[in-house]
Amino acid sequence: MTDRTQPDSVVVVGAGQGGYQTAASLREHGYEGSITLISAEDALPYERPPLSKAYLKGEADEAMLWLRPATYYVRQSIDLVSGTVTEIDPAARSVRLADGSAYGYGHLVLATGATPRTLDVPGKELRGVHTLRTAQDAVALQASLAGARRAVVVGAGFIGLEFAAVAREAGVEVTVVEALDRPLARVVSAPTAEHFTWLHRSNGTELLFGRGLKALHGDGRSNVTAVELADGSRLPADLVLIGVGVTPRTELATAAGLEVDGGIIVDAQLRTTDPHISAIGDCAAFPQVRSGNRRRLESVQNAVGHAQAVAGRLAGSPRAYDELPWFWSDQFATTVQIAGFNEGHETEVVLGSDPDAFSVLLFRGDDLQAVESVNRPADHLAARRLLTQGTDLTPAEAAAPGFSLRTYLRSLAERGTEAPVAL
Ligand SMILES: Cc1cc2nc3c(=O)[nH]c(=O)nc-3n(C[C@H](O)[C@H](O)[C@H](O)COP(=O)(O)OP(=O)(O)OC[C@H]3O[C@@H](n4cnc5c(N)ncnc54)[C@H](O)[C@@H]3O)c2cc1C
Repeated sequence: MTDRTQPDSVVVVGAGQGGYQTAASLREHGYEGSITLISAEDALPYERPPLSKAYLKGEADEAMLWLRPATYYVRQSIDLVSGTVTEIDPAARSVRLADGSAYGYGHLVLATGATPRTLDVPGKELRGVHTLRTAQDAVALQASLAGARRAVVVGAGFIGLEFAAVAREAGVEVTVVEALDRPLARVVSAPTAEHFTWLHRSNGTELLFGRGLKALHGDGRSNVTAVELADGSRLPADLVLIGVGVTPRTELATAAGLEVDGGIIVDAQLRTTDPHISAIGDCAAFPQVRSGNRRRLESVQNAVGHAQAVAGRLAGSPRAYDELPWFWSDQFATTVQIAGFNEGHETEVVLGSDPDAFSVLLFRGDDLQAVESVNRPADHLAARRLLTQGTDLTPAEAAAPGFSLRTYLRSLAERGTEAPVAL
C-alpha cells in the first residue's frame, strides 16, 4: 500500500549517479508507485569516476561501469526511458520529450548533472580536442590517446590531472596548462596542491601555471597540431583535453520558472521553488548545514546522498539533508581523499612526515572545516567520523608532536564523548 501522502508516480530526469540512486532508493524504502527514469544517454545508468581512471586505461569494460544490469530495472519495475526531456509543464505536472512523448508526474526529480565548460577560442572544433563527461567522450578520448604522442591538458583540476596521469602512464608526452598559480586551486590547500605539482612533475609531466589559452591550430585535415598560449608561445599537440570545469544543466528548470542561481535552488530537503519538483546532485545548489551557504558540489557522495534523502522524503520519511561531503581522486599510485567542505580556512596543520603520505587539517579559527588525506585512508575515515559528529579539536592540539586522528578519536570514545570507533 502506498502512503496517502506519497506521490503516486515519480519521474526522474537524468539517469546518472543521482537519478539511478533516486529510483533504487525509492524501491528500497518500499515505494510502490510508478517510477520513470529518463536518460538522454543511450546507455544503462553508469558511474563516471572510472572514465578518467580504469576505463580510460582499458582496465574496465562498459559493463563494469554499469550501476546495475538491465534485469535490475525490470525486476524493480523501474521504467527506463531513453530520450531527452525538452520541457516541463509544472501546471499540468508533466514532462515532454524530444520525440513528442509526455509523462505525467506526481513528483519530478531533476538529476540533470552538468556539462563540461568549453573555451571560446579559435580551433576548438578541431579533431583531437576533447572534453570528458560521458562514456562516449571517454571512448573518443581513448581512441585519440592510442595514437597520441603529445597531449596538452588545459586546466589542472581533478579530471585534467587524472587524464594527465593516465596519458603519462601510456607513454605520451604531457603538458598541463593552468591559468591559476597552482593545480586544484579551488579545491585543495596549498600543501596538497604542492604535492600534486611534485607528483606530476616527477612523472615527467610539464606543468605551466599562470598561462591562458589563445587558440588551437590544426593541419589541412582539421587535426589539432598545436596549442597557442596567450603569451604567443606554441605547444605541439596531437591531443588536447579541455578540463576547465562544468556548467550545471539548469535550462529545463529555468524554462519551467524555477529559481536558478548558479544551480537549481533547493531548500534543505532538496525541494525546488515548486513543491512538486526536487533537484539533486551536480545541478542542485543546496544549503550547507554548517554555514547555511548555498553551494553546488560535484561528487558521487553528494549525488547519492541527495538521492537517498529525496527518496526517503517521497516514501514518507522526510529529513533535512545534512551529510558530510567527501570526495576522492586517483592519480598515478596516489589517492587523495577529502572529508568536509573548506569554506575558507585560516590554519593548516599537516600530519605525517612522509612526503608521500600525509593529511592536512584545515581550520577556520578553532573550527575544523575539512581534512585532505594523501595516501592516508585511515585518517580519511577518522576525519569523516570526527567531522560528522562535530569536534572541538583545536589547531594547537592537532599540531602537538605525535598527534594522530585515530588516537584522538579513540581517546574521545574512552572518555565517553564519542561512540566507540572501529578503525
Ligand atoms: C570523468 C569523471 C571523473 C569523476 N571522478 C570522480 C571521483 O573520482 N570522485 C567523485 O566523487 N566524483 C567524481 N566525478 C563526479 C561525479 O561523477 C558526478 O558528481 C556525479 O556523476 C553527479 O551525478 P548526477 O546524477 O548529478 O549527474 P550525472 O551523473 O552527470 O547524470 C546526469 C544525467 O542527466 C542526463 N540529462 C541531462 N539533461 C537531461 C534531459 N533534459 N533529459 C534527459 N536526461 C538528461 C545526462 O545526460 C546525464 O546522463 C567524476 C566525474 C567525471 C565526469
